[in-house]
Order: sequence, then structure tokens, then C-alpha cells
Amino acid sequence: MDIFKKQMKYLHDNGYVTYTFDELENTENLKFCYKHIVITFDDGWISNYTEIFDFMKSLKLKYNIFLSMGKIGVDKSYLTWDSVREMHNSGIVGFGAHSFTHPSMADINAINPNLEIIEVDQKFKKELGYEPHDFCYPFGYYSEASNDYLVKYSNYMRIYTSDMNYSYMKEDKIIFGRNSIVNEEPMRVFIYKVLGYFNIFSTLVNRIVALTGK
Ligand SMILES: [Zn+2]
Repeated sequence: MDIFKKQMKYLHDNGYVTYTFDELENTENLKFCYKHIVITFDDGWISNYTEIFDFMKSLKLKYNIFLSMGKIGVDKSYLTWDSVREMHNSGIVGFGAHSFTHPSMADINAINPNLEIIEVDQKFKKELGYEPHDFCYPFGYYSEASNDYLVKYSNYMRIYTSDMNYSYMKEDKIIFGRNSIVNEEPMRVFIYKVLGYFNIFSTLVNRIVALTGK
């Protein structure tokens, strides 16, 4: 928590503007800006409410949570629907989809889309009143085939990988490369990630690997 708070204070003190998923519906907010940032948490652990909600509110930093649907309101380690609604109503927290059973989706043919996508969206709508437009892959595992599938057959407008990579459009959807923030890394690494340096670097490396086959 100490490290996390230091990182968030850095964003606050340096004038970063944070967004909820709801605000990304306005495409004006998706235009590139150096100091715009989208903070996301995966799975929907209860600590996203008990440990950080008040703290983030006090700094006026918005954040987002991808809900692992099968656990929400069921498993005590995860958020309850009441806490989800309270956070959403505050305007500080946005919510997205993260499948039902948290499977690897690298092989899209191995999953049950009725359960992992359609049922998730319906449950989301029942509890929160809208269908999610943001989705992130469990474990970050995906393939171009899974991107193609979601672009074509789901209602998700923004699909988040865990690659520290550039983001791009696929038809009218966006594939976002995210930076993972790791507790153990020094503050300067966090700052580099926030500045976008890691995305430039890893995109370059990936391009070179693709070109040379090494
Ligand atoms: Zn997850």
C-alpha cells in the first residue's frame, strides 16, 4: 500500500488526468494526450474497495476494475455488488468485463462464449444497468484470433491486453496495450512507464523481432 500510494501521489502531484471507462465512451477523451491516463485493476478483489476507494477519492484519481464475474458477490475475497454499485455511482470508478471463469482466451475455440461473454454482459446489465464496453483478457493471454473474434462478435469497444505495447484500431474497436505496474520496481521505472517510454521501447523490440525472426 505504501508503494501504491506513492505512485498515485506522483500522478496527482504531476497533474495527470485520469478517466473512467464511462468517460471513454466520449471519443474526445480517447485522443492522445501526454498526461492522460487510465488506471485499471483486474479481477475485482475486495481490497479495490476496502483499501483504496477512499484514498483514490481523496486524490480525485479515477480508476477502473475488470470484474471476474463468477466471483463477484459470491467469493468473500471479491467485491460485492453493493460495493460495485457504490463505487460506480461515485463517478470515481468504472467497470469492465473479465470473463466469467477466468480462462485463458489465447485459444478462442477452447472457451464457451455464451458463458464467458454473453452471460457476463447480461449479468453486468442486470446489476449495473448497462453492458460493459471494456474487456481485458484473463492472465493477459490472447491471440490475433481472439482479438478478431471479440471485435466481430462482442459488444466490447475497447479490448485491453497486458502487453506494454502500442495501442491500435481494429475496425471500429481499440486494442489497448497496458503497462503492468509491479510492486518491487523502483519509482523511476514507474515514472518511465507513465511517460510511455516502455511502450516505445517494447514496440521497437517487437518490430525488430518480427522483422529478423530472432
Ligand atoms: Zn484476472
